[in-house]
Amino acid sequence: MSRPELRLSARTLRDNIAAVTSRLDGCELMLVLKDDAYGHGLTWTVETAVQAGVASFGSYDVRGGLDVRRLVGPEARVFAWATSTDAEIDEALLQGIDLGVGTVEYLHRIIARAEALGAVARVHLKIDTGLHRNGVLPEDWPGAIAQARAAEAAGQLSLEGIWSHIAEASDREDDDAQAVFLDAVRAAGGTGPTPAALHLTASAASWWRPELRGTVARIGAFCYGIRSADGPELEGVRPVARLVAPVARVEEGRAVIEVGAFDGLPSTLVGARVGTPAGARVLERIEPFFAQIEGWAGLSVGDEVTIFGPGEAGESSATTLAERIDTVGEEILTRLSPRIRRVPVD
Ligand SMILES: *Cc1c(COP(=O)(O)O)cnc(C)c1O
Repeated sequence: MSRPELRLSARTLRDNIAAVTSRLDGCELMLVLKDDAYGHGLTWTVETAVQAGVASFGSYDVRGGLDVRRLVGPEARVFAWATSTDAEIDEALLQGIDLGVGTVEYLHRIIARAEALGAVARVHLKIDTGLHRNGVLPEDWPGAIAQARAAEAAGQLSLEGIWSHIAEASDREDDDAQAVFLDAVRAAGGTGPTPAALHLTASAASWWRPELRGTVARIGAFCYGIRSADGPELEGVRPVARLVAPVARVEEGRAVIEVGAFDGLPSTLVGARVGTPAGARVLERIEPFFAQIEGWAGLSVGDEVTIFGPGEAGESSATTLAERIDTVGEEILTRLSPRIRRVPVD
């Protein structure tokens, strides 16, 4: 090895998926793949997840959803929730992508495109439970449901799901959000069959607040082994990715590795502990193209440094690093540049 690499453990991803699935206790896992599968790489992640039995995938936008569809074939559910252009809607309808719909305007456009193409739009309507992050307002909900039902009767739409997003900031706010969500589900159920996919929770709430789960849980972070910042370790879940770099030079007894701020390593991480053959050592300097680490006995070129990974001898995980700089582990992973090769190791 001469360059830094992000090593990916398929075994760990499969184990995490199994741990999350078992924790979900019958609620279906939708594996969230946004930001190139949280920096792990879409193709590798989807192929591994399919081997682990995942049959439902969440992709932020239609473009990503189409990539997932090409990888998983026609059967799996692929859900894309970003509001899309008409051209993207057309592609989504032709490829059987489930669309997350958070405005009445978007619903109208989807129905119009389904009518024009003679296709059936698979729709998950989103209720705004108070986050104001896209979602039909409760006062507009009956109208949106009526539109969806009319389109259903006309053969242009299938109401597959009802969903929303919660802040996971406080239990009370999440409980209030769930109450609004359940009202919306009831209102829909009063006008026709209740949609099968009811989804409100992401990683943390799905894991810690089972009473908030619907029939589907949209989970990214915990499947990749990224625990919540300031949150506890998770039983059966370990980081999938390990960022390693060989020592490129030794300078005044210190190790220099060729990963720097321009590769996505935040320069504010100075002071964090990284793994070395001699145990954890302090990251002393981060420059645009390299970083420098406290030395160790026997330090030599080619020694391997673990910047983050499954924590062993006091080294860091992506979340431990993130906690130093008040962010989340997802950000540490998704900032890593394409120059860092993604390398499957098992
Ligand atoms: C990112 C995202 C998720 C997954 O969140 P995690 O905390 O990574 O599990 C779920 N739903 C939506 C809408 C998201 O944007």
